[in-house]
Amino acid sequence: MLRRVYNGGRPAGTLADPLLRWFRRSGRDLPWRRAGGPYRVLVSEMMLQQTQVERVLPAYARFLGRFPTPAALARAPLGDVLRAWDGLGYNRRARDLHRIARLHPRRLPRDVDALDALPGVGAYTAGAVACFAFGARVAFADTNIRRVLGRVVLGRTATEREAVSIDASLMPRDAARWHHALMDLGATICLARAPRCAACPAAALCRARGRVPAHAPRRQTPFASSDRRVRGRIVSVLRAGPRTVATLTRSIGDRRVPRLVDALEADELVERSRGLVRLPA
Ligand code: SF4
Repeated sequence: MLRRVYNGGRPAGTLADPLLRWFRRSGRDLPWRRAGGPYRVLVSEMMLQQTQVERVLPAYARFLGRFPTPAALARAPLGDVLRAWDGLGYNRRARDLHRIARLHPRRLPRDVDALDALPGVGAYTAGAVACFAFGARVAFADTNIRRVLGRVVLGRTATEREAVSIDASLMPRDAARWHHALMDLGATICLARAPRCAACPAAALCRARGRVPAHAPRRQTPFASSDRRVRGRIVSVLRAGPRTVATLTRSIGDRRVPRLVDALEADELVERSRGLVRLPA
């Protein structure tokens, strides 16, 4: 059905050909693509889940310098991992990466379902690791892929489910290059606001060409974003050493600190002993 929907039934290869040609000329040269391997791919994908590439680049180099192998990561205390995560935010990802390393200090599972069952790894990350690290021909969709495939085929951003179906329908043999190309097109040309349709290799096929609204909706409520920021500030202050809740509250200047310390403790991102809050040993 999707192939019929796809621009009036053009063959599946129609999008892959210009996209992969464009990728050869204009794809991004990213370190986790150059020197892959399952561990590096996993670290990069966990970091990229909620953080822009520009902020991930220095953090990725620093993190791998400190923990070059999953065994090195597994041996480290969680507190050290959280310190090395500095600048990335969403600290649960560091905790989950550490848990994965302790579960699999020698090698990651290859199977997409086994990857999907790992802490902090959802369908997207499992598919990306299976594809980029192990060469599996598996469909998956992040925000960029949803936007590009959705706009080309449906004339709007696709839901994850729709995008995975379209991806499965159109994916050529080289799944890794295809997915990298879709991601790069979404990051550099098919932007959420003001896409550069005149420079797009998919323009001739695209149902949304020239029709994207100028204002995309915001994805986070201010309240959720603010809670997250205060949690990040708490972990950031604790990177320098233990504090009491009262000191944390004063230095951060936010009355939500005690509640959010409780939440961080429940997430095992901080510990409490002798009246002090600290990063886990
Ligand atoms: S033509 Fe425009 S809307 Fe369509 S994929 Fe390219 S950049 Fe995106």
